[in-house]
Amino acid sequence: MKEDLIHNLNLINNRIKNACIKTGRNPNEVKLLLATKTVSAERIKIALENGATLIAENKVQELKEKYEDLKDVSHENHFIGHLQTNKIKDILKYGVSCVQSLDRLDLAEKLNQRLLQEGKTIEVLIQVNTSGEESKFGVHPDQAVDLVKDVAKLRALKIKGLMTIGLFSAETEKVRACFKLLKNLQQEIISQNIPNVHMQELSMGMSGDLETAIEEGSTMVRVGTAVFGARMYPDSYYWDENKTVN
Ligand SMILES: *Cc1c(COP(=O)(O)O)cnc(C)c1O
Repeated sequence: MKEDLIHNLNLINNRIKNACIKTGRNPNEVKLLLATKTVSAERIKIALENGATLIAENKVQELKEKYEDLKDVSHENHFIGHLQTNKIKDILKYGVSCVQSLDRLDLAEKLNQRLLQEGKTIEVLIQVNTSGEESKFGVHPDQAVDLVKDVAKLRALKIKGLMTIGLFSAETEKVRACFKLLKNLQQEIISQNIPNVHMQELSMGMSGDLETAIEEGSTMVRVGTAVFGARMYPDSYYWDENKTVN
């Protein structure tokens, strides 16, 4: 079990490295984030003790449940799930340093308000729905630049880039189009020189499509199943608004 996990981590690091080399990129440019939904604190700990440094949950409930067990192991914690405004307090309490799933202004405003009260700041990525699938969260690509401009005015939020979930498809070129769209949006936003906006981070690519994402400029791949194995719940449980209980 433990050996499998360490082996899988090595495999993923090699996949990242090879994809970088193939496209002439420096492997240090691409971070590995472990998507830890449904994974026990014990197994996450093994990953953290064997080179992983960055993890993320989709649900506040899981973040909360694992917090005590993980708080003494050095790591960085992001949030990648649909965030309801009534859970903002918890995100801050349980040490999330970056919300990658910021996709609407009312959430940004409430997050900002709470942070100002607590005298804190947080990093955010703007999640864009590049696949056009209704079941996925994220701002519509046509509205992404406006959202960035609005969020940029909120003092406690530090925009660091964009995040997307690519189309689920065996057709690589359709998946690639999602990543290209995110990269183009990044370039457009950079060209507008919006104050208080940094665009260095492109969080895209998962277990099945990380090579394509790296070819298109990903700086952070989010990997779950390829390291921890298959999950008990279908992804719709995490990504479909109708089924999101959080
Ligand atoms: C689960 C999840 C991932 C990882 O997906 P895998 O296919 O298991 O690698 C990446 N991003 C988000 C937002 C997720 O919810």
